[in-house]
Amino acid sequence: MPDGSHLTGRIGPNAVLQLAPAMDRIAGEAARRALFAPLGFDPLPDATAMIDETRVAALHQALRRNHPDAARAIAIAAGRGTGDYILAHRIPHAAQALLRALPARLAAPILTRAILAHGWTFCGTGTLAARSGPPVVFTLSDNPIIRGEMAPAPLCHWHAAVFERLYSRLVPPKARARETACHATGAPACRFEIDWR
Ligand SMILES: [Zn+2]
Repeated sequence: MPDGSHLTGRIGPNAVLQLAPAMDRIAGEAARRALFAPLGFDPLPDATAMIDETRVAALHQALRRNHPDAARAIAIAAGRGTGDYILAHRIPHAAQALLRALPARLAAPILTRAILAHGWTFCGTGTLAARSGPPVVFTLSDNPIIRGEMAPAPLCHWHAAVFERLYSRLVPPKARARETACHATGAPACRFEIDWR
């Protein structure tokens, strides 16, 4: 078991699986396998099983450490891929059509509540809370993917990209998500603002 195994949190497999095509495209398959293999992710994990969040964090940390120039673009592409997966498999298409037909002021709170209800799948033992907007503000306390890390700028591009994909597909297309504070920079929690004005 990895260090931190006292934490029993688990995260949905997209936090690992969606990094793979993004890395293959941006850094190359050989680089991806070299990164994934020491952490036990080569071959890729089962798409149906939740993954120990400490292993997910180790992979995201290794990506940032070993590919400092490409990590941000890879995390964003993986976040978009995760959003696309959720749209294809987790939100009924009739509900998506309804959200798109509603004005943003009505659709956004419905989407926000749905994300909060399923937040455990991408927040593990972190605590997700939200405030209506615009901007919608999500705060993620004790985000396991960056736990113990320090950085001069926000790190949680994967989470921001997941939020942006969902709001831009289901609320207005111009919705944009930004991480405005990150626990890795010393803020009390990671904070994401989604705005479409
Ligand atoms: Zn953060």
